[in-house]
Amino acid sequence: MKKTVRDINVNGKYVFVRCDFNVPLQDGRITDDKRIIESLPTIRYLMDRKAKIVLCSHLGRPKGKVDPALSLAPVAKRLSALLGKDVPLSHDVAGEDAKKIHDTLKEGEVMLLENVRFEKGEEENDSQFAKQLASFGEIYVNDAFGAAHRAHASTEGIATYLPAVAGLLLEKEIHYLGTALENIERPYTAIMGGAKVSDKILLIENLFEKVDTLLIGGGMAYTFIKAKGGSVGNSLLEENMVELAGRLMEKAKYKGVKLLLPVDTVVTSEFSDDTPFETVDSMEIPDNMMGMDIGEKTRRLFTDEIMKSKTIVWNGPMGVFEMSHYEGGTRAVAQAMASCGGKTIIGGGDSAAAVNKFGLENKMLHVSTGGGASLEFLEGKQLPGIACLEDKPRRPFVAGNWKMYKTIREAEAFMEAFKKNYRDEIPEVGLMVPYPQIMRVRQLAEGTGIRVGAQNMHYAPEGAFTGEISPSMLKELGAEYCIIGHSERRQYFNETDETVNLKLKAAFANGIVPILCVGESLEQREAGQAEAVVSAQVKAALREVQEEEAKSLVIAYEPIWAIGTGKTATAQQADQMCRLIRDTVAQCYDYYISECVRILYGGSVKPSSSQEILSKTEIDGALVGGASLNAEDFLEIVRF
Ligand code: ADP
Ligand code: MG
Repeated sequence: MKKTVRDINVNGKYVFVRCDFNVPLQDGRITDDKRIIESLPTIRYLMDRKAKIVLCSHLGRPKGKVDPALSLAPVAKRLSALLGKDVPLSHDVAGEDAKKIHDTLKEGEVMLLENVRFEKGEEENDSQFAKQLASFGEIYVNDAFGAAHRAHASTEGIATYLPAVAGLLLEKEIHYLGTALENIERPYTAIMGGAKVSDKILLIENLFEKVDTLLIGGGMAYTFIKAKGGSVGNSLLEENMVELAGRLMEKAKYKGVKLLLPVDTVVTSEFSDDTPFETVDSMEIPDNMMGMDIGEKTRRLFTDEIMKSKTIVWNGPMGVFEMSHYEGGTRAVAQAMASCGGKTIIGGGDSAAAVNKFGLENKMLHVSTGGGASLEFLEGKQLPGIACLEDKPRRPFVAGNWKMYKTIREAEAFMEAFKKNYRDEIPEVGLMVPYPQIMRVRQLAEGTGIRVGAQNMHYAPEGAFTGEISPSMLKELGAEYCIIGHSERRQYFNETDETVNLKLKAAFANGIVPILCVGESLEQREAGQAEAVVSAQVKAALREVQEEEAKSLVIAYEPIWAIGTGKTATAQQADQMCRLIRDTVAQCYDYYISECVRILYGGSVKPSSSQEILSKTEIDGALVGGASLNAEDFLEIVRF
């Protein structure tokens, strides 16, 4: 997760904002101002906070030379009109004139630098030039998603010299395109089209790993049809991709991905809107004909699949939608997406243009403003313009463990006292309460941001397990978290690494986030086995837990020897063990996952001792026992 303008103080500061104002121009007039409109939220956000705003963008491909036809003057004019405020444009990119306007900017005012690609240093990512750009701001904001796949001076280099965060548009793009790659709601369908297989091969391969259904249309379909043994006439065909297409279809079979190709195709004799056309069987395109669009039957087939899906990602038109006779297939897919009720995400320049042409843009969850950038993002690549921004630290989490204390009435009194002085602030707060209290506490926590959870559960969905409670029952009560493998359960109730692992998997399967407890005893510590024991506990608990699930995991480190013994773990000891736990998670998955997991300190935490422990970088919060029973004490820890 990247920091955004919201995570940094911009008040009264010079803020350098890289926008994507690369708009289509015709005779010096802007024909589509979507990209300008989309950049307004960030600009307005900064204006409201009295920042001095320096905007920067490229336009077209001037290749490092001044080209008056590619001046940002039309953009400055349009921006001024949209903001109702004059936006002066400097005559140079980062020279005397720019400096002059910059120096006289007042709070809440906006200026625009001339086309940044007029300077050679931009595309070369020249460090001198990046430094020069950086001298125009105290904070760097990247909001140019459409240019985020380029490592240029204004999209990447500049981040070396300034605190760097994402703008609101960039944040939105990452968020929505991200829904195509993680936390996916199923069934998940991807629709691929456009001209060439070779342009899209990385995209197909990445989405292939995630989707349930893959629909292939557009020019690329003929390469697949050829691989299936069909005849494609004069249709677009990439001979050198036929084998690969064949392999993909094989792979789909054994992976259980439903891969559908067009069954009928609209064909004509010339690449033109004026020659007669007809619909034929996709496997039998006549020699002198070329495929221009998917046929009626295919449109129905694809529509049915789309209507069944909860997540749909689309890239690449189904036919030559620029021609009126061959836009039908693309329109049908767009309409199905617009009405299917699932999460609909569209990437790619021409695909976005098509949705726009049909006037369906507002019916989609997200139409990306980045053509090439959206493809690279969906390919799973790291974009340099995003990678260079600062990471958001994990949100701290302070969880109270009430153990077997408190009547419902006492719980109500606690909530009343706690809520009086609590705001949903930086740390997330959770209360792990006895089963009978869950519903009531959850009710009282409504709208406060306070999370509620349990302290244990069984791993089976149901069964003859007298006295136990299942994950789905917990969910029904409204629990969002569940402590698993607490030292007291390991000590008194035969909790083993095996049952902990089963419970962890069952919790994730039911949408409950586990708070996994690990820790070593006094004997183990004295025998010098602390590291080995804790690391083994983590590994055993995570066996067969999916990467996607592991990301949301919370782990609490409990130095059992320091609980109720008068001994205490030093902040440094705790920090080291939390580091070890994170490294162990990285071994089980990868670095990225380990950076997502929140690791809490679960020794005896008191208001007096919490400060030092919670300020350690590896410790993301605390699992608080006794001190969570008292609203004031708990609040004090929350507010560390
Ligand atoms: P995007 O920009 O959305 O990623 P592409 O650039 O891959 O999409 O593909 C868009 C182009 O593919 C369009 O110009 C369209 O005319 C072309 N196309 C789609 N179907 C066919 C076809 N059957 N024959 C030739 N070109 C096609
Ligand atoms: Mg394109």
